[in-house]
Amino acid sequence: MSMTDDETARRTDAPLSSLSSEYCPGPHSVRRLLAVYCRNCDVALCETCFIQAHNGHHHSNVDEVAVELRDQLRRDADGLANVAVQHAERLNELQV
Ligand SMILES: [Zn+2]
Ligand SMILES: [Zn+2]
Repeated sequence: MSMTDDETARRTDAPLSSLSSEYCPGPHSVRRLLAVYCRNCDVALCETCFIQAHNGHHHSNVDEVAVELRDQLRRDADGLANVAVQHAERLNELQV
């Protein structure tokens, strides 16, 4: 469990770049695409890991979350000129 906790902590630094085309970092040998975003933990993961480690947590489809964050970043960029560049970079990542 401690190994996955480490992975999770590192991922929360940059959890949302091209979510649906990334692989889950979970402790399984099979590569699984990210499918679920845990809102309790702010982390994206595959369905298997979600059921095993986040059962009962509030979750969304990763694609929905990516769209939400795009909208949110757009609103932020409108109001906060000084961070607009940073957000624009993140938007580019999300649109890949
Ligand atoms: Zn997984
Ligand atoms: Zn969770």
